[in-house]
Amino acid sequence: MNKISLIHSLIKVSSEIQTYLVNYLEFHKSEPREIKKENYLKLSPRPEKREELPKPFQKEDTSAHHYTILLKIAEEQGNLIKPVNRRVHPLRTKAKCCRKCKAPPEYLKNHGFYRPKKSGRVYPRHTCKICNAEYAPGAGRHKPKHICPYCGYALNPKTYRKNFVVYFCERDDCPHRQVHEKGNRYSEKDWLFDYETLSCKLPSGKKKLERIKNKNLLDIEMTLYVECGMSTREVVKVMQKLYGAEIVKSHQIVLNHAEALANHLSLNEDLLPVPVSDKICEDETYLRYFGRWGYLFRAYNPETKGIIEEYFSEHRDTKGCITLNKGVVEKYLKNCRDPEFDLISDRAPIYEAMRKYFKKNEKAKIDLYQIKGIFDEPDEKNAQFRSEKQCIERSFESLKSATKRRRNFGSFRGAQIFCFLHKIYYNHLRRHSALENMPPVPLYLHSGKMVTNWNELLQFISEKQT
Ligand SMILES: [Zn+2]
Ligand SMILES: [Zn+2]
Repeated sequence: MNKISLIHSLIKVSSEIQTYLVNYLEFHKSEPREIKKENYLKLSPRPEKREELPKPFQKEDTSAHHYTILLKIAEEQGNLIKPVNRRVHPLRTKAKCCRKCKAPPEYLKNHGFYRPKKSGRVYPRHTCKICNAEYAPGAGRHKPKHICPYCGYALNPKTYRKNFVVYFCERDDCPHRQVHEKGNRYSEKDWLFDYETLSCKLPSGKKKLERIKNKNLLDIEMTLYVECGMSTREVVKVMQKLYGAEIVKSHQIVLNHAEALANHLSLNEDLLPVPVSDKICEDETYLRYFGRWGYLFRAYNPETKGIIEEYFSEHRDTKGCITLNKGVVEKYLKNCRDPEFDLISDRAPIYEAMRKYFKKNEKAKIDLYQIKGIFDEPDEKNAQFRSEKQCIERSFESLKSATKRRRNFGSFRGAQIFCFLHKIYYNHLRRHSALENMPPVPLYLHSGKMVTNWNELLQFISEKQT
């Protein structure tokens, strides 16, 4: 009652005095309670201490240390293992316990030194008295690069080549040797190149197509150079006969024009469609450049009779074959298809090595059919794929007829450019009698007209770009 009457009288007092008064009455302090931090503790009780939860079980809690069991067994058998009696030499490795059985350092004894050949450094080594494990802490353990899946031991590098190293299983009792029909050792190849750096694309050059003013002349030049297989000097002769001596001054200009066109087309190659199918034929042919042999790898679509991918290489090796098939895989992905195909090739060992590489790295699923040469005895499988094999041989004939006259390219890049331009010509411009006089991959302009020459091809690209 007393309080209520007080409150009634308080209502009439100003708000500031009210707070002071309430504070005084309730907490016996004249200052407002928000100011002092200590009062906070009085207002709300201290939070209760959280109940301590038991730690989850650790690996160490559940399993008894291996060494205790070993010690017990040894004792039962009557061979008591005593700790090392150290009088002079301390434990050189300063290990806290045995790495294998977790025995304390009393059971570790010094055991010479470990000298790795590579670094030439010296590491002290100890042996565990209980489990006989040897260990040199600090030396670092190198995980073996390749492990035999049959016996679980490390493979040894034996054969060193430019692009790969072959690792062999050295164990004589390896199960692989018993399973293998010839008793061969298990082997694995370690490739020394990076898959991501491989590319079939023409390396870009400096020559620009925009500098060529007369596109009609370019069309005629390329028709003579790429399609008719004339040498550049012959092209100059024909051009000068037709349009006057001033029009093309030297054969270098024709080469420059070819390079500019190839650069422009290779930059926009993604705009040109390349259909893929379940079957692919692959083969390689050779072209001469600067007195050397270069090898042209080709992947061919036997259904549309178009070239899927080409790669001109200095060497006829598995790396070149893998590069070509990387390009093929990219074409499959571009067509929104899984890279799974039947591959028809000759019996060159590079194709089998390439298939293994793609299988191991899971880049593509390739079923390889290697066809015997025409001089070998025919069999059923050969007959099934012979027509496809013949197709790619014929496609090479078209290239050979275009390169026959010049016999030799001046440089590797010149040969690369020619092969690239010939591929574009073969796919989109060259009319094929087996396809009712149509190119393998016909292109159509916005007006509905089919692309028939280089000029219209450039127009097609500019229409696609916009
Ligand atoms: Zn041990
Ligand atoms: Zn083995």
